[in-house]
Amino acid sequence: MENARSSPSTAGADIAAIRQSVAALCARFPGEYWRKLDRERAYPTEFVRALTEAGFLGCLIPEAYGGSGLGLSAAAAILEEVHKSGCNGAACHAQMYIMGTLLRHGSPAQKAQYLPGIASGELRLQAFGVTEPSAGTDTTSIRTTAKRQGDRYLVNGQKVWTSRAEHSDLMVLLARTAPRERAKKRSDGLSLFILDMREAKGRGLTIRPIRTMMNHSTTEVFFDNVAIPAENLVGEEGEGFRYILSGMNAERILIGAECVGDAKWFIAKAVEYARSRIVFDRPIGQNQGVQFPIAKAYAQMRAAELMVRQAALLFDSGAECGAEANMAKMLAAEASWAAAEACLQTHGGFGFAEEYDVERKFRETRLYQVAPISTNLILSHLAEHVLGLPRSY
Ligand SMILES: Cc1cc2nc3c(=O)[nH]c(=O)nc-3n(C[C@H](O)[C@H](O)[C@H](O)COP(=O)(O)OP(=O)(O)OC[C@H]3O[C@@H](n4cnc5c(N)ncnc54)[C@H](O)[C@@H]3O)c2cc1C
Repeated sequence: MENARSSPSTAGADIAAIRQSVAALCARFPGEYWRKLDRERAYPTEFVRALTEAGFLGCLIPEAYGGSGLGLSAAAAILEEVHKSGCNGAACHAQMYIMGTLLRHGSPAQKAQYLPGIASGELRLQAFGVTEPSAGTDTTSIRTTAKRQGDRYLVNGQKVWTSRAEHSDLMVLLARTAPRERAKKRSDGLSLFILDMREAKGRGLTIRPIRTMMNHSTTEVFFDNVAIPAENLVGEEGEGFRYILSGMNAERILIGAECVGDAKWFIAKAVEYARSRIVFDRPIGQNQGVQFPIAKAYAQMRAAELMVRQAALLFDSGAECGAEANMAKMLAAEASWAAAEACLQTHGGFGFAEEYDVERKFRETRLYQVAPISTNLILSHLAEHVLGLPRSY
């Protein structure tokens, strides 16, 4: 992409320096590293350790708690760079943002207890237990219950797609504390807890890995009378749904940034191959049929990048950014998929060979049109909340 214009800077020299040091770190984890893990469906322990030790995963935690107190624009630059380098942040990106719920809604005692350990990486908070098999996207119909019994809650039920649960000490868990039928609003009666999985494992908590088409360390989690101390309730009982919504904008923006990084990786890889592969005595990239899908993906990526940056700037300024965060995630996931498709097609048969890394990244980037929220649900959010169309569900 030598002739492509450089991306607009959002926060000046600091972010440029962060990008450089992330890229240098990622260079230590080349394609062979990720290929081996992918084959074995293994967790990238060394990569996560390197990001942790460099302080990148604690970047959103205020300095008072041992983090670097940076904004979401910086966090987005870190994750974009990880993906642009061919690495994958899915193994640990949640360590950056799940704590946001605790930071915004936790008590001073909870923050003092957990945030310094999360900032140093000594405590891993990267499991977010929301989705359930029978509820799907309709979070307000989850069935996992937490019943108060003296100074603790007893949790019963099941979560699905709880990523990184096997590689996390803590989980932020959403459970029903009052029956849906008794609630005034569908979203009332849900509460948020910090679950210490180290204590709960073997005491009613069972984690089972789910093998997926890409290496993602995701699981299903079963709760059988799992006890959580009452002091681990985050904020007010019954307000949990509202609390998770505030964290979702950060998650969507950061995943949008990862998709922009993926798109950049695919585009660079496609351009390099299109220039060097000679068929019919000329580089395949001389054919417009090969050029145009790559050029189109580039334009889509640039547009998505602007939306991700706009959303991150709004988030950092404390402004409302729900629509932008959703659009950023949707546009970036579509751009990364367009770039993946162009890259694979440009590589012809070699796109399917493991050693080129294209097929692996192709599988990895597809997820983001479904998780953490699917495209249809983003479109219905925009239709209803931005355009004022009638609610469809
Ligand atoms: C690899 C992976 C990791 C994940 N990690 C986590 C995690 O760590 N924590 C967690 O809580 N969850 C996690 N999830 C869950 C993820 O957020 C959900 O899969 C996603 O939100 C979609 O929900 P669903 O799978 O239940 O689909 P469903 O809700 O069953 O929807 C299925 C399809 O129907 C469409 N649909 C549903 N309702 C409507 C409607 N009203 N209008 C139009 N279309 C509709 C959806 O868009 C979707 O395409 C993960 C999922 C995956 C696959």
